[in-house]
Amino acid sequence: MTSIKKKLEGFGSTAIHTGHETEGNYAHLTPIYASSTYVFDTAEQGMRRFSGDETGYIYSRWGNPSLKEAEDKIAAMESFGLMENESPLQLKARLHASGMAAISTLMLGNLKTGDKILSHYSLYGGTQELMNRVLPELGIEAIIIDLRDLSKAEDTIKGNANIKMLYLETPANPTIQCVDIDALTKIAKQHNLLVAVDNTFATPYLQQPFKYGVDYVVHSTTKFLNGHGTAIGGALVGKDIERMNTRMEKVHRLLGGNSNSFDAFLLTQGMKTLEVRMERHCANAMKVAEFLEKNPAISKVNYLGLASHPDHATSKKQMKHPGPMLSFEMKGGLEAGKKFIDKLQMCVRAVSLGTCDTLLSHPASMTHYGVPKADREKYGITDGLIRMSVGIENIEDILNDLEQAAGN
Ligand SMILES: *Cc1c(COP(=O)(O)O)cnc(C)c1O
Repeated sequence: MTSIKKKLEGFGSTAIHTGHETEGNYAHLTPIYASSTYVFDTAEQGMRRFSGDETGYIYSRWGNPSLKEAEDKIAAMESFGLMENESPLQLKARLHASGMAAISTLMLGNLKTGDKILSHYSLYGGTQELMNRVLPELGIEAIIIDLRDLSKAEDTIKGNANIKMLYLETPANPTIQCVDIDALTKIAKQHNLLVAVDNTFATPYLQQPFKYGVDYVVHSTTKFLNGHGTAIGGALVGKDIERMNTRMEKVHRLLGGNSNSFDAFLLTQGMKTLEVRMERHCANAMKVAEFLEKNPAISKVNYLGLASHPDHATSKKQMKHPGPMLSFEMKGGLEAGKKFIDKLQMCVRAVSLGTCDTLLSHPASMTHYGVPKADREKYGITDGLIRMSVGIENIEDILNDLEQAAGN
């Protein structure tokens, strides 16, 4: 039995209450179900569970109450306030062990040998490698172009009958580029393509891709959804409920990229504060961007909230706020970038994003150390580029730390 008795008006209340079911011992929070298997009263009941005539848990790779609460929250947030054919949009979410596991289920569940994916060149590194190194061995090829050029996107789709899926990630590293979900989905749907969006950076609080008719959303829940950096996780969300419950459920179960109860519990608690965290992350990020723009040691700031960002208008169309992510270039190149990072006193030197703490990384010496400079620069990863996930600390402390690290 679910605990909510009426429809909730707000996103925050929906995130807090959805998915919670009254538990046998009346625990306030859904306990961490540390049980691999579930018991049948009789063989007859086991048969009913397996046939689907009776709902109930069977085996934790397939699901359990800890996973279900997090899944229901994600589905409720992605569909919050959206309608389809005059009724509230229904979505189904499946929790995964990582964002990459969710993306793998998406790809392997929907594509076969000979199919092609169309995507933008600014993508999460793991997704890029999956498309470049793993999928081609299965005969699935990715065509990577600049999807901000809509006529090029349309021509590419028209010229390649084998393109089956349009895969978007927006906003994306390292220069926080955005692609237009609405315009690209319209083009893709004229050619019957599946459309999937990686909504990790924005979260459903800032951006709801299903509003534009996409088929799937994927998340690395590791980032802002969890919000505290306590667990790796992912989610695949789909609007074709029938397909989610059959084909996609099958692929998810058989590839085995399931989440676990402890990580799901941490995710559930984290998501309850998504709205207030995102408000603070974004307010801080805007102030950080304005501050960095004025700093003489910095040549360029990439932030969607600044009118100077080439995708400012696109982000305004599809995002509630310009988000918590930004990057900037130190005038002094590699040495200046390293020195800046080394001088940080409160902000944290680490890759990843989406925690309460402000995280900064220097791609040229860290994530992209092994990538030749010419290749890096094609993606906007210059020697002096610093990436920042703005946290929810008090803004004075973030600005003070950046100011002393920039050394002026
Ligand atoms: C981190 C990330 C992923 C991969 O997620 P994992 O949880 O690390 O597997 C995918 N997409 C984006 C945009 C990410 O930031």
